[in-house]
Amino acid sequence: MKSIRKPNRAARAVFEECVSALSIAGVRDRLKPLATAVESAEATYLAMAATTTLYGISGGATFKGDRTADMVSLYKNVLSRKTSKVRHIYDEIKASAKGGICPLCEHNVVKTLDHYLEKQKFPIYAVAPINLVPACTDCNKVRSQREPLSASDQTLHPYFDSTSDYSWLHAEVLPIDPVAIQFTALRPPGWDILKQDRLQSHFRVLGLAELYTVLAAGELAQIRAALINLSNVAGRSGLEAHLAEQAKSRQTVSLNSWQTALYVALSESVWFCGGGYTQIAAP
Ligand SMILES: [Zn+2]
Repeated sequence: MKSIRKPNRAARAVFEECVSALSIAGVRDRLKPLATAVESAEATYLAMAATTTLYGISGGATFKGDRTADMVSLYKNVLSRKTSKVRHIYDEIKASAKGGICPLCEHNVVKTLDHYLEKQKFPIYAVAPINLVPACTDCNKVRSQREPLSASDQTLHPYFDSTSDYSWLHAEVLPIDPVAIQFTALRPPGWDILKQDRLQSHFRVLGLAELYTVLAAGELAQIRAALINLSNVAGRSGLEAHLAEQAKSRQTVSLNSWQTALYVALSESVWFCGGGYTQIAAP
């Protein structure tokens, strides 16, 4: 998971801009009185996110009245509509992901905004920027289909959680034919237990072990011929040095990318560097 700076637009201001952009006066009139509720719900969100208790927010308590459909529509037909007057706000949040890469899986391209708290259950946050996270369609789909049941069951939130202080993504080279790479999320010893548990939930819920294993297999197939050539020319020590250099270069981009974990594992695997690389599946 990659952290992103929180959007600097307040929920109330965005809500009011979206409501002003509505073409139907009746809906505008129904939504306008909710501005204060949207503002105070944002304050609750910030307080609960700070204590990692967002799972405890009650959709009913934070949104009185039957305006769910109006709020969901405000997101779908105003904020995210391509031709809308306020679409620039949507695009601005979407563009906040570094390099256009999904901060949740750190691999796929950002295609949408993910409601950290799902919009049907928490309509008061339907257009609140702090609840809208740039995401790929896969992560968005998985997250929208589940609701955390406890604090430790919450996936990580790129605006409130930081995981870059520790190298927690671990890859292991399985000495089999063909070579396979297994990924696990470690438990950083300096983190509290809740944050460690949430990292595990994040990794499990988004299926990152499976995703990274498939990606690593593709990467190995791409470098197979080069590794065999390098080994013939520079020997085992040359191969180890090359893989370690590749790992180092990727660490400068991200400590916990699947590529970093993969190359660290390859360079440290006695079996792989001693000939296991010949058992990479041919492309
Ligand atoms: Zn993703």
